[in-house]
Amino acid sequence: MTAYKKWENLYTTAKNDERGKVPFTHLKTLWFNTGTLCNLACENCYIESNPKNDRLTYLSLADVTPYLAEIRENQWQLDNIAFTGGEPFLNPAIIDILEASLKLNIPVLVLTNAHKVIKRWEKKLLALHEKYGDLLRLRVSLDHYTSAVHEQERGENTFDSTMGTFKWLVENGFNMSIAGRSLTKESSEKASAGYQKLLDDLNIKLQLTDQKLVVFPEMKPQEDVPEISINCWQILGISPKDQMCSTERMIVKRKGQDKPVVLSCTLIAYDETFELGHTLKESFKDVHLNHPFCAKFCVLGGASCSSTS
Ligand code: SF4
Ligand code: SF4
Repeated sequence: MTAYKKWENLYTTAKNDERGKVPFTHLKTLWFNTGTLCNLACENCYIESNPKNDRLTYLSLADVTPYLAEIRENQWQLDNIAFTGGEPFLNPAIIDILEASLKLNIPVLVLTNAHKVIKRWEKKLLALHEKYGDLLRLRVSLDHYTSAVHEQERGENTFDSTMGTFKWLVENGFNMSIAGRSLTKESSEKASAGYQKLLDDLNIKLQLTDQKLVVFPEMKPQEDVPEISINCWQILGISPKDQMCSTERMIVKRKGQDKPVVLSCTLIAYDETFELGHTLKESFKDVHLNHPFCAKFCVLGGASCSSTS
């Protein structure tokens, strides 16, 4: 019997069990990673973005177009076309890419840190909002409802500028939501109440319903976690079809590559094992859960942290 180390073999765990896998069911959300460059360098950024990390390069409109065409030609009814980074508003083509996506008449969600960079697009965003209304959705990441904890993660002088931009976006009628975080010792209910109080105190007129606030648990990516075997589904009482990679895919372009590639999800950006093809149709296949993030973030953590930025 061959002995494998943890996470070494695609099909077999170190305990020699068959590795857990997730079947593709249908495409609900197509993510584009617009590039890993970010104007911030958050301490626990799962994709290791910062002002120097360009391992995933900026997507161009030409990179995105074939995937939008594939959706249109097949008449797939997606819930969302979504954009993450890095900071999407650093990408020089972002407005053209958003407009091309909005033309499909599918809701478009953009994750942003709303810290400074987005402001360079104010006029163009207002024009997109005027034309497409609520189809364009922006989700702003706030690590906490207190400035102190948010800035501990995101750096000094990031809280007020983000909240100022958030207020401007709400006042201009944009369809806004918050990606928040609850601390290890804090219930998600307490966190939700804290975010609402923050908005009320700043006179920001937005009711944080379930659709408007997503609270993720605090994550520590470096923690050791067990592998996922096919037995886990029954033991944990969960279904493989509940995992994000059953209904989502992400397009990235690696530095030095001439074309983008389709990945299983937003969480595992650098491991080439999770590359599933160059077209969406090619990517509609089983995903073997051969990465610690599969256990930590999805199967054991139960978190869909694709919505963080
Ligand atoms: S990390 Fe990605 S590939 Fe792994 S289970 Fe989660 S969604 Fe699927
Ligand atoms: S968490 Fe978001 S804002 Fe922070 S470095 Fe990563 S991509 Fe940038």
